[in-house]
Formats: sequence, structure tokens, C-alpha cells
Amino acid sequence: MNLNLTADPRAGDNDRRSRADDTLLAHAGRDPFAHDGAVNVPVYHASTILFPTLAALDAKATARVRYGRRGTPTSFALEEAVSALEGAEGTVLTPSGVMAITLVLLAHARPGAHFLIPDNAYGPVRHACNEIMIPMGVAVSFYDPRAGIAELIRPETALVWLEAPGSQTFEMPDIAAIVAAAQARGVPTALDNTWSGGLFLKPLTMGVDFSVQAGTKYLSGHSDVMSGTIACGAGRHERMRAFAQRMGACIGPDDAYLMLRGMRTLSVRLRQHHASGLRIAQWLEGRPEVIRVMHPGLPSDPGHALWSRDFSGASGLFGFVMRSVERPTLARMMDGMKLFGMGASWGGFESLLIPVDPTAVRTATTWAPGGQVMRIHVGLEDPEDLIADLEAGFGRLA
Ligand SMILES: *Cc1c(COP(=O)(O)O)cnc(C)c1O
Repeated sequence: MNLNLTADPRAGDNDRRSRADDTLLAHAGRDPFAHDGAVNVPVYHASTILFPTLAALDAKATARVRYGRRGTPTSFALEEAVSALEGAEGTVLTPSGVMAITLVLLAHARPGAHFLIPDNAYGPVRHACNEIMIPMGVAVSFYDPRAGIAELIRPETALVWLEAPGSQTFEMPDIAAIVAAAQARGVPTALDNTWSGGLFLKPLTMGVDFSVQAGTKYLSGHSDVMSGTIACGAGRHERMRAFAQRMGACIGPDDAYLMLRGMRTLSVRLRQHHASGLRIAQWLEGRPEVIRVMHPGLPSDPGHALWSRDFSGASGLFGFVMRSVERPTLARMMDGMKLFGMGASWGGFESLLIPVDPTAVRTATTWAPGGQVMRIHVGLEDPEDLIADLEAGFGRLA
């Protein structure tokens, strides 16, 4: 297998991930001798937790495990592992990435409050604002992620949302500048960190208050679990944990187990997504069918300098613009793909390719792609096989 690891100094063995994360991912959240020596924390199916005496029942508020909704040894192990990876004070687990997002929004919502949301935020963030926050009396401004927010903060601004890079169009915000502007006015910040898997970007060390991920994607990594994580910065965990409790958010033990199992290999998987993704992004840049590639790891990308400053690698998700084709022609290309699947989500071991239309979800910026926008997830297959599949697909456009 030829990975062309020389293409980028961060690829392969030269990437800038912290080696400490490799060790941490193998060990975080485990305590074998608390579980008869089993390497992995077992799946605790539990709603009722019994207390042996009335005195123990009376003291249940101080018990680690007291009721299934409040967590089990399996979910606590996962919380510990995510907290270790993200450098968090504590982590709140949710049944989906969208619920993690919505909980952070709701925890900061009150009539008269104001939120700043990047124009390229994951679509459901915008829908939650339009359909839940605004009817509750929250004012929402969508901002251009490349322009920053300093002018847009109001006395009543209660939350600044960030996503890096943005969904579908992959622009890179200046995280440090946005966080500094928010901190200067005492406004909390939350960043959707799904793209980096929590491995290539450490938002909490940059002063972000909440690092949110769809655990559905890279943390789980096998296209079979729905989950979300809210990693909380210093002084932020207790209130978010209590809020999530009031909302009844919890994760099932089988999903917590699968996610923890996925996290053990996060680092080796992402290293491959990084190298193969860059390899294919570079190949696409050289194709006559492709107008431009949106991948912050490419030197030609407008977000490359910010990405190089803040990230230690790139995941396998990016976009490209193809010259416009009629839908039946696009169908000829897509329907014949052998290795690329068509479907929502990403972050699994397998490759995906879908057409998207970012113009439908932009209001603060105009986005004129000048062609058909495609979103690609480069999985763990041999990238040369993936290139052959794409090349044959482009051939079917003729
Ligand atoms: C998929 C996704 C989510 C939502 O995750 P679900 O688990 O599908 O609810 C949030 N943010 C980003 C950037 C995503 O791609």
C-alpha cells in the first residue's frame, strides 16, 4: 500500500498528534481489577440500584451509582475517557450529537438572551435556533465565521457558538480571536469539535468552555452508534451535568460500551483518515472535473494557515466542487460507485460520497460554489482503490 506520506509533513509518522494521547486512549476509563480482571469495563444494564441498608439509602446523594439515568459504571468509564481526551473537567453524555448541541443552547437560553451562531454551523444548529430558541424569546445572529464576532457581541449575548471547520464548506474560523472577543465580554463559548474527533484539536486548552462532539462520528467510528458528548471546561461541568439531569439526558449502556471500544483505536484510525484524506484531496485538485477542493490541510485552502496553527491533523471529511452536471448524469456517476456509499453521517471506517447544497442553509454569507458541491468521507480503504473508484466515476460523467 502506497500512502504517499511525504505529501504533507504532518502525515504518517510525522504528524503532530501528541503521542501522550495514544497512551491515554489505551488506558483511560479502565480499572480491570474492579471487574475481576476484565480488560474492558462490562456493560451494566441497570435502572434500579439497590441500597443494602436504610442508612445507605438515606445517604444515596453521595453514592457514585444511584439510579440508571444518573449513570452506570459503563457510562462513567466513557465520561472519564472523553474528559481525558478533551482535557475536560467533566463530560456529559447524550443520546445523539444533536442533543448535545441542543442541551448547550438550552442551558444558556432565557427570554431576551442573544446567541451568535456561525453561518456554516451544522444544519440542525440553525434549525434548533429557528424552531426552539427564537420562539422562546432568544435573539439569534448568524455570523460570517471568517469575519469574527467582536462587533456583534451585545450586552445580552449569552453564548458564542463555533464549529471548526464549518459543515459542508469547511471554512476555518480564527478560534483564538473569536474566543478572545467573547472572553473580553464574559460570554461563554462552545465549539463543535466533531471533525477533529477530539484528537487533532483541543478547544478547552484554547479557552473554549464547551467542546461538543457527535460521538456518532469518529469517537464511535463504526457507523453503528448514536451519541453525543459535552466536554466541559473548568468551572462548567457541575451546572451542565445538573441541567442534563433535569432534561433526562442519558446514554444506553450498550452504546456507551461500543463507543468506549471505538475510542481505543481513535488515534490509529484518525492517522489513516488524515493521510488518505490528504492523498485524495491532492488527487482531486489535479482533476479537470474538479473546480476546487475544500480541505484546510491543503496549502491552497484559504483556511490552511489557521488550520496549521491550531490543528495537529485533519480528519477524512472534506468537500469539493465539481463542474455542474444534470442530475441523471450525476446519478450515472454516483450509482456506479463500488466503494463509496451514499448516506448521512460520517466518521466510520468506510468511505462515503454525497452531493450537498450549502446555499440552502446560509443567510449571513453568500456562497456561490459555481458547480456541484460534493461531500466526501475518506474511510480506511486503500486510498489507491478509492482513487480508482472516483476516476471510474468521473469517467461516467462523459
Ligand atoms: C453529525 C453531526 C452532528 C450531529 O450528530 P448526531 O449524532 O447525528 O445527532 C453534529 N455536528 C456535526 C458537525 C455533525 O457532522
